Amino acid sequence: MRDVVIIGGGVAGLSAAVSCYDSGARDILIIERDSSLGGILRQCIHNGFGLHTFSQELTGPEFAERFITEVSKRSIDYVLDSMVIDISPHRVVYVNGKEGVITVDSQAIILAMGCRERPRGALNIPGYRPAGIFSAGTAQRLMNIDGYSVGKDVVILGSGDIGLIMARRLTLEGAKVHAVAEILPYSGGLKRNIVQCLDDYGIPLYLSHTVVDIAGKRRVEGVTIARVDENRKPIKGTEIHFCCDTLLLSVGLLPENELSSKAGIVLSSATGGPAVDDRLSTSADGIFAAGNVLHVHDLADYVVEEAAEAGRNAADYISGCHGEIKKARIKAGYGVRYTVPQLIRCDRTSPVTIRFRVSSVFHNASIVVLSDGKEIQRKRKRIMAPGEMESLKFDGISLSSELEIRIEVEQ
Ligand SMILES: Cc1cc2nc3c(=O)[nH]c(=O)nc-3n(C[C@H](O)[C@H](O)[C@H](O)COP(=O)(O)OP(=O)(O)OC[C@H]3O[C@@H](n4cnc5c(N)ncnc54)[C@H](O)[C@@H]3O)c2cc1C
Repeated sequence: MRDVVIIGGGVAGLSAAVSCYDSGARDILIIERDSSLGGILRQCIHNGFGLHTFSQELTGPEFAERFITEVSKRSIDYVLDSMVIDISPHRVVYVNGKEGVITVDSQAIILAMGCRERPRGALNIPGYRPAGIFSAGTAQRLMNIDGYSVGKDVVILGSGDIGLIMARRLTLEGAKVHAVAEILPYSGGLKRNIVQCLDDYGIPLYLSHTVVDIAGKRRVEGVTIARVDENRKPIKGTEIHFCCDTLLLSVGLLPENELSSKAGIVLSSATGGPAVDDRLSTSADGIFAAGNVLHVHDLADYVVEEAAEAGRNAADYISGCHGEIKKARIKAGYGVRYTVPQLIRCDRTSPVTIRFRVSSVFHNASIVVLSDGKEIQRKRKRIMAPGEMESLKFDGISLSSELEIRIEVEQ
C-alpha cells in the first residue's frame, strides 16, 4: 500500500508530490500517461511563467523542469507511459502501463490530471469537415514539439489564452493571422496576452463575433465571421470573409474528470472539477484534487501554490485521525461564477485562500464576503474580468454548518 498516489505528472502533480514529501509522506507514486513529466507546459515554449513563484520569467519547459528537479532530489517514485483507467472510492488505482493492467492501493490520492480543450463538435459551426481546423493546443503541440507548420493564413475563433499565444507564435513563424473572433463582448484571456500577442503584432480582435461559415471541402479555403446580438445570434449583413487555409479553435478548456465521476466524486457544475473543501479534499474520503483538473487556472504559479496545499493536506490526512467534520457552504453570489473551495470546515482556525472568477467585466467594484447576509470582509478592485482568476484570503470566523458564506461583487 502506497502512502499517496498522484495521478498526473504536470506541474500540479509535481508540486503536490514535493510538498507531500516535505510534509512527511515518503512512499509517494506519480503516475503519468505521457512519456515524460511536465504536462502541458512541455509545449508552452513562450516565456511568462514563474513570475510569482520564482520572480523570474521562465518558459514553460524551464518552469516544469524546476519541479522535476525537486522530485528527483527527493527520489520520489514515478511511472511514465502509464494511464490510470479507473479509481475506486476506496483508493484503489487501476493503471494500464508497460506491464499491462495493475492495481495500486493507497492511503490517499491526489487528482492532478489537468484539462482538455473543448472540441469543435460542441460548437455547431456549419460546413464540411475540411483539413486545416485545429484546436489551438493541438496546433501548439504540432508546432512546438513535433516541428510542423499548421498553416499560412489563419483565423482564430476564441480569445482564450492559448489562442492568443498561438496568434503570436504563428506570426513569428511567418504566417498571417487575419483575425481573432470572440463571441463574448470581452476577451476570455489575460490582458497581458491581448497586449503582447495581438496588439504588438497588429492582429485585430473582433469582440461579439463568431464564425458563421467555413469554405472548402478538402482544405479550409476561407472563413466568414459575423457580429452577434446580445443572445449570441449572428446579425445578417455584418459578415466579414477572410481567405485562409487554417482555422484555430480556442474555445475553452474542460477539467479532465472522467475518472473522478466514475469514482462517484461529486463534481461542481460551475467548474467541471470536483467540489472540494478548504483542504482541497473531494467528496471521497482521502481523495484530493489540484490544478486544472480542479478548475481551469490562468497562471501556472497559482496551480503550483494550490497543488502544494493539496500535497500538505494529503500528508496530514495519512498521519492523522479523520472523522466526520461539519462544513459551511461557500456560495457564489452576484457577479461570481464559482468559488474553490465550495465548502469550509467549521473548525478551521487559519486563513484559507478562496479562488474564484467573476462572470463579467467589472470596473471599480468590490468583492464582498457575507456570512448569513452580514458583511465580514471587503476588497476593492479597479478592474475584474472573467479571464483572470481572483482570490481572497478568508480570515475565518466561528463557523457552523448551517451558516452560508456568500461571495459577491458589489458595483
Ligand atoms: C496552451 C497553454 C498556454 C499556457 N500559457 C501559460 C502562461 O503563459 N503562463 C502561465 O502561468 N500559465 C499558462 N498556462 C497555464 C498552465 O500551463 C497550466 O495551468 C498548468 O500547466 C496546469 O498544470 P496541471 O498539472 O494542472 O495540468 P497539466 O499540465 O495538463 O498536467 C496533467 C497531466 O496529467 C496527465 N494525465 C491526465 N490523465 C491521466 C491519466 N488518466 N493517467 C495518467 N496521467 C494522466 C497528463 O498527461 C498531464 O501530463 C497555459 C496553459 C496552456 C494549456
